[in-house]
Amino acid sequence: MTIQINAAFDGGNIHVVEQDGNRLYLEIIKDNQSDFFQWFYFKVTGAKDQALEIVITNASDSAFPAGWPDYQARVSEDRKDWQVTETDYRDGMLTIRYQPRSNIAYFAYFAPYSMERHHDLIARISGKEGVGYEELGKTLDGQTMDCLTMGEGKRSIWLIARQHPGETMAEWWMEGALERLTDENDSVARLLRQKARFHIVPNMNPDGSCRGHLRTNACGANLNREWAEPTASRSPEVLAVRNHMDKIGVDFVMDVHGDEAIPHVFLAGFEGIPDLDKAQDKLFRRFRNKLAKYSPDFQRSEGYENDEPGQANLALATNQLAYRYKAVSMTLEMPFKDHDDMPDFKRAWSPERSKHLAHDCLAILAEMIDQLPVSGKELG
Ligand SMILES: [Zn+2]
Repeated sequence: MTIQINAAFDGGNIHVVEQDGNRLYLEIIKDNQSDFFQWFYFKVTGAKDQALEIVITNASDSAFPAGWPDYQARVSEDRKDWQVTETDYRDGMLTIRYQPRSNIAYFAYFAPYSMERHHDLIARISGKEGVGYEELGKTLDGQTMDCLTMGEGKRSIWLIARQHPGETMAEWWMEGALERLTDENDSVARLLRQKARFHIVPNMNPDGSCRGHLRTNACGANLNREWAEPTASRSPEVLAVRNHMDKIGVDFVMDVHGDEAIPHVFLAGFEGIPDLDKAQDKLFRRFRNKLAKYSPDFQRSEGYENDEPGQANLALATNQLAYRYKAVSMTLEMPFKDHDDMPDFKRAWSPERSKHLAHDCLAILAEMIDQLPVSGKELG
Protein backbone atom coordinates (compact mmCIF):
# COMPACT_ATOMS: atom_id res chain seq x y z
CA MET A 1 0.00 0.00 0.00
CA THR A 2 1.34 3.46 -0.84
CA ILE A 3 0.89 6.52 1.30
CA GLN A 4 -1.64 8.96 -0.13
CA ILE A 5 -2.66 12.46 0.93
CA ASN A 6 -6.08 13.91 0.18
CA ALA A 7 -8.11 16.98 1.17
CA ALA A 8 -10.97 16.85 -1.37
CA PHE A 9 -13.73 16.98 1.24
CA ASP A 10 -15.80 19.47 3.26
CA GLY A 11 -13.38 21.90 4.88
CA GLY A 12 -10.29 20.18 3.48
CA ASN A 13 -7.14 22.18 2.70
CA ILE A 14 -3.69 20.97 1.64
CA HIS A 15 -1.44 20.86 -1.41
CA VAL A 16 1.14 18.11 -1.84
CA VAL A 17 4.55 19.48 -2.85
CA GLU A 18 6.64 16.34 -2.63
CA GLN A 19 6.53 12.90 -1.11
CA ASP A 20 9.65 11.01 -0.03
CA GLY A 21 8.57 7.74 1.58
CA ASN A 22 7.29 8.55 5.09
CA ARG A 23 8.28 12.17 4.73
CA LEU A 24 5.57 14.38 3.23
CA TYR A 25 6.17 17.96 2.10
CA LEU A 26 2.92 19.94 2.04
CA GLU A 27 1.67 23.49 1.61
CA ILE A 28 -1.44 25.16 2.98
CA ILE A 29 -3.55 26.77 0.23
CA LYS A 30 -4.52 30.45 0.42
CA ASP A 31 -8.17 31.49 0.90
CA ASN A 32 -9.76 32.24 -2.49
CA GLN A 33 -8.88 35.78 -3.69
CA SER A 34 -6.95 36.42 -0.49
CA ASP A 35 -3.45 36.00 0.94
CA PHE A 36 -4.65 34.54 4.24
CA PHE A 37 -3.91 30.93 5.06
CA GLN A 38 -3.33 28.84 8.18
CA TRP A 39 -6.17 26.29 8.29
CA PHE A 40 -5.16 22.80 7.17
CA TYR A 41 -7.20 19.62 7.12
CA PHE A 42 -6.27 16.47 5.22
CA LYS A 43 -6.13 12.70 5.47
CA VAL A 44 -3.18 10.37 5.06
CA THR A 45 -4.03 6.84 3.98
CA GLY A 46 -1.96 3.68 3.75
CA ALA A 47 0.48 4.66 6.52
CA LYS A 48 -0.39 2.08 9.20
CA ASP A 49 2.48 1.66 11.71
CA GLN A 50 4.74 3.99 9.75
CA ALA A 51 6.39 6.95 11.45
CA LEU A 52 5.14 9.90 9.42
CA GLU A 53 7.01 13.17 9.23
CA ILE A 54 4.75 15.80 7.72
CA VAL A 55 6.44 19.09 6.86
CA ILE A 56 4.35 22.18 6.12
CA THR A 57 6.85 24.14 4.09
CA ASN A 58 5.01 27.48 3.83
CA ALA A 59 4.16 27.87 7.54
CA SER A 60 6.21 31.06 7.98
CA ASP A 61 4.20 32.89 5.28
CA SER A 62 0.86 32.09 6.96
CA ALA A 63 -1.47 34.78 8.30
CA PHE A 64 -0.21 34.40 11.89
CA PRO A 65 3.29 32.89 12.07
CA ALA A 66 3.21 33.58 15.83
CA GLY A 67 0.58 30.86 15.92
CA TRP A 68 3.15 28.08 15.28
CA PRO A 69 5.63 28.18 18.22
CA ASP A 70 4.27 25.87 20.97
CA TYR A 71 1.38 24.81 18.74
CA GLN A 72 0.49 21.12 18.42
CA ALA A 73 -1.40 19.70 15.43
CA ARG A 74 -4.56 17.68 16.01
CA VAL A 75 -4.92 14.15 14.71
CA SER A 76 -7.81 11.67 14.66
CA GLU A 77 -8.23 8.15 13.35
CA ASP A 78 -11.97 7.88 14.09
CA ARG A 79 -12.94 11.47 13.16
CA LYS A 80 -14.44 11.90 16.67
CA ASP A 81 -11.58 12.10 19.13
CA TRP A 82 -8.93 14.68 18.16
CA GLN A 83 -5.68 14.53 20.11
CA VAL A 84 -2.47 16.49 19.88
CA THR A 85 0.64 15.06 18.27
CA GLU A 86 4.34 16.04 18.36
CA THR A 87 4.79 19.26 16.38
CA ASP A 88 7.81 21.59 15.92
CA TYR A 89 8.20 24.92 14.27
CA ARG A 90 11.74 25.50 13.02
CA ASP A 91 13.31 27.41 10.09
CA GLY A 92 9.88 28.58 8.96
CA MET A 93 8.54 25.05 8.62
CA LEU A 94 6.04 23.17 10.74
CA THR A 95 6.85 19.50 11.25
CA ILE A 96 4.17 17.12 12.49
CA ARG A 97 5.16 13.61 13.61
CA TYR A 98 2.71 10.77 14.03
CA GLN A 99 2.57 7.00 13.64
CA PRO A 100 -0.96 5.92 12.66
CA ARG A 101 -2.33 2.72 14.23
CA SER A 102 -4.61 2.22 11.24
CA ASN A 103 -4.64 3.00 7.55
CA ILE A 104 -6.50 6.30 7.76
CA ALA A 105 -5.44 9.31 9.84
CA TYR A 106 -6.83 12.83 9.66
CA PHE A 107 -4.77 15.89 10.51
CA ALA A 108 -6.18 19.37 11.15
CA TYR A 109 -5.28 22.77 12.58
CA PHE A 110 -8.08 22.24 15.12
CA ALA A 111 -10.89 19.68 15.48
CA PRO A 112 -12.98 20.39 12.36
CA TYR A 113 -16.64 21.36 12.43
CA SER A 114 -18.07 20.24 9.08
CA MET A 115 -21.00 21.78 7.23
CA GLU A 116 -22.74 18.40 7.56
CA ARG A 117 -22.42 18.67 11.33
CA HIS A 118 -23.69 22.26 11.07
CA HIS A 119 -26.82 21.08 9.20
CA ASP A 120 -27.33 18.30 11.76
CA LEU A 121 -27.08 20.88 14.55
CA ILE A 122 -29.56 23.28 12.94
CA ALA A 123 -32.09 20.49 12.27
CA ARG A 124 -31.70 18.91 15.73
CA ILE A 125 -32.07 22.18 17.65
CA SER A 126 -34.81 23.70 15.48
CA GLY A 127 -36.90 20.57 16.12
CA LYS A 128 -36.99 21.30 19.86
CA GLU A 129 -39.95 22.91 21.55
CA GLY A 130 -40.07 26.68 21.41
CA VAL A 131 -37.22 27.00 18.90
CA GLY A 132 -37.74 28.96 15.67
CA TYR A 133 -35.72 28.91 12.49
CA GLU A 134 -35.16 31.82 10.13
CA GLU A 135 -33.12 31.96 6.97
CA LEU A 136 -31.64 35.44 7.08
CA GLY A 137 -30.21 35.37 3.56
CA LYS A 138 -27.85 33.55 1.24
CA THR A 139 -24.09 33.43 0.84
CA LEU A 140 -22.21 34.02 -2.42
CA ASP A 141 -22.10 30.24 -3.02
CA GLY A 142 -25.87 30.09 -2.38
CA GLN A 143 -25.79 28.53 1.09
CA THR A 144 -28.33 29.60 3.71
CA MET A 145 -27.57 31.97 6.58
CA ASP A 146 -29.18 29.94 9.37
CA CYS A 147 -30.56 31.64 12.49
CA LEU A 148 -32.20 29.91 15.45
CA THR A 149 -34.51 31.83 17.76
CA MET A 150 -35.82 31.05 21.23
CA GLY A 151 -37.09 32.72 24.39
CA GLU A 152 -39.97 35.03 25.21
CA GLY A 153 -38.24 37.84 27.09
CA LYS A 154 -37.84 41.49 26.14
CA ARG A 155 -34.07 41.65 25.92
CA SER A 156 -32.64 40.92 22.51
CA ILE A 157 -29.57 38.71 22.75
CA TRP A 158 -27.51 37.74 19.72
CA LEU A 159 -24.85 35.05 19.56
CA ILE A 160 -22.82 34.82 16.36
CA ALA A 161 -19.80 32.66 15.54
CA ARG A 162 -17.28 31.62 12.96
CA GLN A 163 -16.99 34.78 10.90
CA HIS A 164 -13.50 33.34 10.46
CA PRO A 165 -14.23 29.85 9.19
CA GLY A 166 -10.94 28.24 10.27
CA GLU A 167 -11.81 29.07 13.90
CA THR A 168 -13.86 25.91 14.28
CA MET A 169 -13.80 26.07 18.09
CA ALA A 170 -16.34 28.89 17.68
CA GLU A 171 -18.96 26.54 16.27
CA TRP A 172 -18.14 23.89 18.91
CA TRP A 173 -18.87 26.66 21.43
CA MET A 174 -22.20 27.26 19.66
CA GLU A 175 -23.12 23.60 19.90
CA GLY A 176 -22.59 23.82 23.66
CA ALA A 177 -24.61 27.03 23.92
CA LEU A 178 -27.53 25.63 21.93
CA GLU A 179 -27.58 22.37 23.87
CA ARG A 180 -27.70 24.23 27.17
CA LEU A 181 -30.30 26.76 26.05
CA THR A 182 -32.64 23.99 24.88
CA ASP A 183 -32.25 21.73 27.93
CA GLU A 184 -35.66 21.76 29.61
CA ASN A 185 -34.17 20.56 32.89
CA ASP A 186 -31.67 23.40 33.07
CA SER A 187 -32.87 26.31 35.21
CA VAL A 188 -30.24 28.68 33.77
CA ALA A 189 -31.72 28.04 30.31
CA ARG A 190 -35.29 28.46 31.54
CA LEU A 191 -34.45 31.76 33.23
CA LEU A 192 -32.65 33.09 30.15
CA ARG A 193 -35.49 32.13 27.82
CA GLN A 194 -38.01 33.72 30.16
CA LYS A 195 -36.10 36.99 30.29
CA ALA A 196 -34.65 37.28 26.79
CA ARG A 197 -35.21 36.56 23.13
CA PHE A 198 -32.21 34.82 21.54
CA HIS A 199 -31.10 35.09 17.92
CA ILE A 200 -28.29 32.67 17.23
CA VAL A 201 -26.19 32.40 14.05
CA PRO A 202 -23.88 29.42 14.64
CA ASN A 203 -21.98 29.89 11.39
CA MET A 204 -21.51 33.35 9.86
CA ASN A 205 -19.30 32.01 7.06
CA PRO A 206 -20.60 28.74 5.54
CA ASP A 207 -18.74 29.27 2.24
CA GLY A 208 -15.34 29.72 3.87
CA SER A 209 -16.07 26.70 6.11
CA CYS A 210 -16.84 24.45 3.15
CA ARG A 211 -13.92 25.72 1.11
CA GLY A 212 -11.38 25.13 3.88
CA HIS A 213 -10.59 28.84 4.36
CA LEU A 214 -8.91 30.37 7.38
CA ARG A 215 -10.38 33.84 7.46
CA THR A 216 -12.53 34.89 4.49
CA ASN A 217 -15.71 34.12 2.54
CA ALA A 218 -15.98 32.90 -1.08
CA CYS A 219 -14.68 36.18 -2.57
CA GLY A 220 -11.88 36.74 -0.08
CA ALA A 221 -13.70 39.19 2.22
CA ASN A 222 -12.75 39.14 5.91
CA LEU A 223 -16.29 39.36 7.28
CA ASN A 224 -15.14 40.83 10.58
CA ARG A 225 -13.99 43.93 8.67
CA GLU A 226 -17.33 44.40 6.87
CA TRP A 227 -19.75 45.53 9.60
CA ALA A 228 -19.60 49.27 8.87
CA GLU A 229 -20.64 48.98 5.21
CA PRO A 230 -21.59 45.43 4.24
CA THR A 231 -22.58 44.90 0.60
CA ALA A 232 -24.58 42.25 -1.26
CA SER A 233 -21.73 41.62 -3.69
CA ARG A 234 -18.89 41.30 -1.18
CA SER A 235 -20.35 40.45 2.24
CA PRO A 236 -24.00 39.32 1.92
CA GLU A 237 -23.54 37.24 5.10
CA VAL A 238 -22.95 40.35 7.23
CA LEU A 239 -25.55 42.41 5.37
CA ALA A 240 -28.26 39.79 6.01
CA VAL A 241 -27.49 39.56 9.73
CA ARG A 242 -27.08 43.30 10.28
CA ASN A 243 -30.35 44.08 8.44
CA HIS A 244 -32.13 41.63 10.72
CA MET A 245 -30.49 43.18 13.76
CA ASP A 246 -31.75 46.59 12.62
CA LYS A 247 -35.29 45.19 12.71
CA ILE A 248 -35.04 43.28 15.99
CA GLY A 249 -32.58 45.35 18.02
CA VAL A 250 -29.53 44.15 19.96
CA ASP A 251 -29.08 44.48 23.73
CA PHE A 252 -26.31 41.94 24.24
CA VAL A 253 -24.14 40.28 21.62
CA MET A 254 -21.27 37.83 21.73
CA ASP A 255 -19.14 37.18 18.63
CA VAL A 256 -17.18 33.94 19.04
CA HIS A 257 -13.67 33.41 17.60
CA GLY A 258 -10.39 31.55 17.97
CA ASP A 259 -6.98 33.21 18.27
CA GLU A 260 -3.97 31.65 16.54
CA ALA A 261 -1.20 33.09 18.69
CA ILE A 262 -2.39 33.79 22.24
CA PRO A 263 -2.52 30.69 24.49
CA HIS A 264 -5.43 31.94 26.59
CA VAL A 265 -9.20 32.37 26.61
CA PHE A 266 -10.16 36.04 26.74
CA LEU A 267 -12.78 38.64 25.90
CA ALA A 268 -12.34 41.88 23.96
CA GLY A 269 -14.75 44.79 24.34
CA PHE A 270 -15.49 48.08 22.63
CA GLU A 271 -13.72 50.75 24.72
CA GLY A 272 -12.59 52.68 21.62
CA ILE A 273 -15.99 53.45 20.10
CA PRO A 274 -16.99 57.13 19.72
CA ASP A 275 -18.94 58.58 22.67
CA LEU A 276 -18.39 55.50 24.81
CA ASP A 277 -21.20 55.08 27.35
CA LYS A 278 -19.59 54.33 30.73
CA ALA A 279 -22.51 52.23 31.95
CA GLN A 280 -22.47 50.11 28.81
CA ASP A 281 -18.72 49.53 29.15
CA LYS A 282 -19.12 48.70 32.84
CA LEU A 283 -21.57 45.90 32.02
CA PHE A 284 -19.01 44.37 29.65
CA ARG A 285 -16.35 44.53 32.37
CA ARG A 286 -18.69 43.04 34.92
CA PHE A 287 -19.42 40.11 32.61
CA ARG A 288 -15.70 39.55 32.08
CA ASN A 289 -14.89 39.75 35.80
CA LYS A 290 -17.63 37.33 36.73
CA LEU A 291 -16.57 34.82 34.06
CA ALA A 292 -12.96 35.01 35.27
CA LYS A 293 -14.09 34.11 38.81
CA TYR A 294 -16.39 31.35 37.61
CA SER A 295 -14.34 29.48 35.00
CA PRO A 296 -10.72 28.25 35.45
CA ASP A 297 -10.58 28.17 31.63
CA PHE A 298 -10.99 31.95 31.42
CA GLN A 299 -8.72 34.82 32.45
CA ARG A 300 -8.48 38.56 31.91
CA SER A 301 -4.82 39.55 32.14
CA GLU A 302 -3.79 38.32 28.65
CA GLY A 303 -5.53 39.43 25.47
CA TYR A 304 -5.68 42.28 22.97
CA GLU A 305 -4.57 45.83 23.77
CA ASN A 306 -7.45 48.22 24.42
CA ASP A 307 -8.18 50.74 21.65
CA GLU A 308 -7.55 54.38 22.52
CA PRO A 309 -10.72 56.42 23.10
CA GLY A 310 -12.48 57.06 19.79
CA GLN A 311 -9.99 54.91 17.83
CA ALA A 312 -12.06 51.72 17.48
CA ASN A 313 -12.41 50.19 14.03
CA LEU A 314 -16.16 50.28 13.45
CA ALA A 315 -15.87 47.66 10.69
CA LEU A 316 -15.46 45.00 13.42
CA ALA A 317 -18.70 43.38 14.58
CA THR A 318 -18.16 44.00 18.31
CA ASN A 319 -17.42 47.72 17.85
CA GLN A 320 -20.13 48.33 15.24
CA LEU A 321 -22.80 46.60 17.31
CA ALA A 322 -21.81 48.39 20.52
CA TYR A 323 -21.88 51.69 18.63
CA ARG A 324 -24.98 51.10 16.53
CA TYR A 325 -27.29 49.64 19.19
CA LYS A 326 -25.61 50.64 22.48
CA ALA A 327 -25.39 46.90 23.02
CA VAL A 328 -23.21 45.16 25.57
CA SER A 329 -20.98 43.68 22.92
CA MET A 330 -17.94 41.39 23.10
CA THR A 331 -15.57 39.17 21.15
CA LEU A 332 -14.76 35.84 22.78
CA GLU A 333 -11.39 34.36 21.80
CA MET A 334 -10.38 30.75 22.41
CA PRO A 335 -6.89 29.39 21.66
CA PHE A 336 -5.64 27.00 18.98
CA LYS A 337 -2.78 26.16 21.36
CA ASP A 338 -4.15 25.71 24.87
CA HIS A 339 -5.23 27.75 27.84
CA ASP A 340 -1.85 27.93 29.55
CA ASP A 341 -3.32 28.39 33.02
CA MET A 342 -5.17 25.08 32.85
CA PRO A 343 -3.52 22.96 30.14
CA ASP A 344 -4.68 19.58 28.82
CA PHE A 345 -1.66 17.63 27.57
CA LYS A 346 -3.69 15.12 25.59
CA ARG A 347 -6.12 17.34 23.68
CA ALA A 348 -5.06 20.95 24.43
CA TRP A 349 -7.95 23.35 23.79
CA SER A 350 -10.71 21.08 22.48
CA PRO A 351 -14.32 20.86 21.26
CA GLU A 352 -15.48 19.67 24.69
CA ARG A 353 -13.80 22.55 26.49
CA SER A 354 -15.28 25.01 23.99
CA LYS A 355 -18.73 23.59 24.75
CA HIS A 356 -18.19 23.80 28.52
CA LEU A 357 -17.04 27.40 28.17
CA ALA A 358 -20.34 28.17 26.38
CA HIS A 359 -22.24 26.70 29.34
CA ASP A 360 -20.25 28.92 31.69
CA CYS A 361 -20.86 32.04 29.57
CA LEU A 362 -24.61 31.39 29.73
CA ALA A 363 -24.45 30.96 33.51
CA ILE A 364 -22.88 34.41 33.82
CA LEU A 365 -25.40 35.86 31.38
CA ALA A 366 -28.22 34.48 33.54
CA GLU A 367 -26.69 35.99 36.65
CA MET A 368 -26.57 39.44 34.96
CA ILE A 369 -29.71 39.28 32.88
CA ASP A 370 -31.72 41.79 34.93
CA GLN A 371 -28.94 44.39 34.61
CA LEU A 372 -28.83 44.28 30.82
CA PRO A 373 -30.46 47.05 28.79
CA VAL A 374 -33.79 46.54 27.03
CA SER A 375 -33.88 48.09 23.57
CA GLY A 376 -37.66 48.41 23.70
CA LYS A 377 -38.25 47.19 20.16
CA GLU A 378 -41.23 45.00 19.41
CA LEU A 379 -40.50 41.29 19.63
CA GLY A 380 -39.45 39.96 16.24
ZN1 LIG B 1 -11.50 35.37 14.38
